[in-house]
Amino acid sequence: MNIKTLQVGPIGTNCYILCDEAEKLCAVIDPGGDADLVAAAVAETGCALCAILLTHGHYDHTGGVAGLQARWPEVPTYLSCRDQGADDSYMLQLFPPVANVKDYGEGDAIQVGSLTLKVLSTPGHSEGSVTLRCGDVLFCGDTLFAGSCGRTDFPGGSVKKIMASLKRLGELEGNLKVYPGHMESSTLDQERSWNPYLRQAMNG
Ligand SMILES: [Zn+2]
Repeated sequence: MNIKTLQVGPIGTNCYILCDEAEKLCAVIDPGGDADLVAAAVAETGCALCAILLTHGHYDHTGGVAGLQARWPEVPTYLSCRDQGADDSYMLQLFPPVANVKDYGEGDAIQVGSLTLKVLSTPGHSEGSVTLRCGDVLFCGDTLFAGSCGRTDFPGGSVKKIMASLKRLGELEGNLKVYPGHMESSTLDQERSWNPYLRQAMNG
């Protein structure tokens, strides 16, 4: 397993390219913009793209999807349907419709060659926020950040739900690696020791 990190889009969202180097297949997680840059990075891996995976539906995570779909029309895109279906202009800006998405959520598994990504529903930052677990790696979108957590003041956000989601992540066994939607990566042990939100969630 190899993970490449790019910062893309209007507010430097972390876009991850997860590669199964043995089978020469990869997935892109959260292409938030700069589709050309993401496509070039995919080409550089030498792996064939087999899935586009979204941790949630906010524009800064989905902005590059259309550009990638244009290049790879046969590659499926996954997003929780709870983050789609905006009906006013503010919601449309925040959750721009993503074409040709397949719904996924709790209990689903996505295969990238020999790698299995398990989908954990972790709402709170948005209704449809998910964390993708691949072995000892968590792609947690804007649910858990190094030292912090995602905002809950957007439509569909909930303090109560994000605290439950943080508790769930914090209670996962082992020192899993944390790859968030913004800023630097971390580990669960590190977050359990100094992230005030995660600590509060686990004590609650
Ligand atoms: Zn977000």
